[in-house]
Amino acid sequence: MLEVKNQNNNKSDNDTLLKKLAKDLKLGEYKVKLCFTKLSLDYSDKYFEDNYSLSKELVCSYYGILDDYIRDDEAKKEFDLQIKRFDEVYLDTAPLIHEDWFLFFIANASLTLHKRRKKLVILEKTMEEMFGIARNEEKDLDVRLRAKVRPFLFQHLAKKGLLKIMDTGSKGIADDHLVSLFKRRGKNNNILLITQDRYLSERVVQLGENLNKNIDLPSHSFLERFTQRKFIDEDIVKKVVVCELMKNGDLLRLYICQHCRDSYYDKLFDCGGFVLCSSCYYEIENEKQTQKAIKQIEEKKRLKELQEAQEKRDLEQQIITVGKIIKRKQRQVLAAIISILVVFLIIVLLLI
Ligand SMILES: [Zn+2]
Repeated sequence: MLEVKNQNNNKSDNDTLLKKLAKDLKLGEYKVKLCFTKLSLDYSDKYFEDNYSLSKELVCSYYGILDDYIRDDEAKKEFDLQIKRFDEVYLDTAPLIHEDWFLFFIANASLTLHKRRKKLVILEKTMEEMFGIARNEEKDLDVRLRAKVRPFLFQHLAKKGLLKIMDTGSKGIADDHLVSLFKRRGKNNNILLITQDRYLSERVVQLGENLNKNIDLPSHSFLERFTQRKFIDEDIVKKVVVCELMKNGDLLRLYICQHCRDSYYDKLFDCGGFVLCSSCYYEIENEKQTQKAIKQIEEKKRLKELQEAQEKRDLEQQIITVGKIIKRKQRQVLAAIISILVVFLIIVLLLI
């Protein structure tokens, strides 16, 4: 790794950075200095003063100090709700070294991991990739520095029982190791993968969907459902869920839309990985509404036709009825004429 002191000669005149870091992190100045020395970095380089949060992150990672990254109680509760459902939580390379987001994540998730006896899992292959990034001069300096210091943090977390490094062999790339691992372990475990890689995320969500199709849901009696509601909740099929790590350690889950097949990020809900995206949802809803409106128009048209037919029948009936009345009247008139003629004839006969 290219040392900072060789690439940047802009030196700070005093030990302001050391003092500030020591004060903020409640550490002795010598310890802050030791951290930079152990990482072969020149703390007096102005780069570290100008990038204070990165400098703080380096010291915190080196000594495993996470107090400054703990959020409020509500956020911790949210982390608990999100993580408790998973048996295993795997981390890909990028989220580990993207800004200080992993520090926020582990600082807030550690309570849940500890309480529920769960561990974060990082593959040996992922560690190899990270060592490669630390040595790769084409990468940005802050990324290289994070990749260099994170293994120290992992050691602290491993000592506390919060993290383990899993060896899955050295062939191929970490993505393939993760996918084949989930194929095996996803059958019986609820797995969470945290990655910034969209392609890998889509691969794993598809895998999770395939696993769900082949797995029978555990069946529970009414009594079990009644008495162990929490337990039943945790049986909701997810098997393999993929999230992206966000600012402040938040997680956003990747879903694939079963309609347009596009992937998108949203909150972590209890459901399968294939869910309609909002535009498809509205499109389908609009289509439904249009179909409903068309049906209503057709129904109105049908009713109108029925009504018109009925009116026509009624009119015909009325015409028939008028005809009958005329005929009756004609018969009455005829009867009257005949009666008059008969009376007239009788009178004539009597007169004769
Ligand atoms: Zn869609």
